[in-house]
Amino acid sequence: MKVTDIWNSRQRPTISFELFPPRSPEAAEKLHQTIDRLADLKPDFVSVTFGAGGSTREGSRQLLETLKNEKGLEVIAYFAGYGMGPEDITAVMDSYESMGVENILVVRGDLPEDGNFQPHPQSFSHAADLVAFVRPRYGFCLGVAGYPEGHIEALSKDKDIEYLKLKVDQGAEYIISNYFYDNRFFFEFLERCRAVGIDVPILPGAMPIYSVKMLEMLASLCGATITKEVRQGMAALPDGDKEALVDFGIEFAIRQCAELLDAGVPGVHIYTMDRSKSAAGIVHRLRDEGLL
Ligand SMILES: Cc1cc2nc3c(=O)[nH]c(=O)nc-3n(C[C@H](O)[C@H](O)[C@H](O)COP(=O)(O)OP(=O)(O)OC[C@H]3O[C@@H](n4cnc5c(N)ncnc54)[C@H](O)[C@@H]3O)c2cc1C
Repeated sequence: MKVTDIWNSRQRPTISFELFPPRSPEAAEKLHQTIDRLADLKPDFVSVTFGAGGSTREGSRQLLETLKNEKGLEVIAYFAGYGMGPEDITAVMDSYESMGVENILVVRGDLPEDGNFQPHPQSFSHAADLVAFVRPRYGFCLGVAGYPEGHIEALSKDKDIEYLKLKVDQGAEYIISNYFYDNRFFFEFLERCRAVGIDVPILPGAMPIYSVKMLEMLASLCGATITKEVRQGMAALPDGDKEALVDFGIEFAIRQCAELLDAGVPGVHIYTMDRSKSAAGIVHRLRDEGLL
């Protein structure tokens, strides 16, 4: 089912999870347990990341296959087209189409870490160009990424919104946002989107705090602000208590999601980092509070 149809037909906001393909046999083993636990939470859909340049092509396909065909979950296949030529792009799209995938989220992706990677001469520079390429060729429900604090390379927030509008004008039907630790970033972003005529559903992404190292690493990659509230909350925890940190992250995310849901967002999309404890804690509480 197309995610836009899920939003149109569902009375309540959706809950969804992002997963990435495992990078080792041990991670694959662990991921199976995570998937079982996440599937028990009955998400409306799950999404699977794609390594730019096609680096996780097979792993992403296999994970989608497991989620869709073994677990019966609705999926969004992410597609990061950085450096890929038209033939490679259509090969990936054809394989997703034949698998019955109905939803794709198109992102540009970043330069792969492999220093020898050579972009295809006919590759696309921006996600909007990828959307324009895919849109007329396939019937997928296409989504794109949005950045409440602005994309890290953006010349300005206004320019970033201009390019987001271009992605929607080229055929994107929904937006999933990067995560943020202050809802004001999202509310202001939403306002700016609506002001320029972006009228598709905008699904906020929530990144629970899993570890200080991961928090800092992800924020440095995408430019998300680690707010004073987060830093003060973490500073008040017993030194080195990893469980207490995860629990703090769950409580923080619950408060964030509750406020977003109260404000009428179409759902919340949890970046699980292939873990289930935080997602389960958040979903159970939001359901207990009647917000989902
Ligand atoms: C929900 C979500 C899912 C993601 N999934 C993945 C994934 O699976 N795999 C992965 O590798 N990465 C993923 N990413 C990360 C993403 O690939 C990076 O953030 C990447 O740097 C930008 O991708 P984009 O699609 O937003 O790019 P674009 O929309 O192309 O924007 C990139 C930058 O270029 C600027 N820009 C856009 N269009 C133009 C133009 N025409 N002229 C000049 N400047 C322009 C924008 O302002 C921005 O600064 C995801 C991000 C999010 C939020």
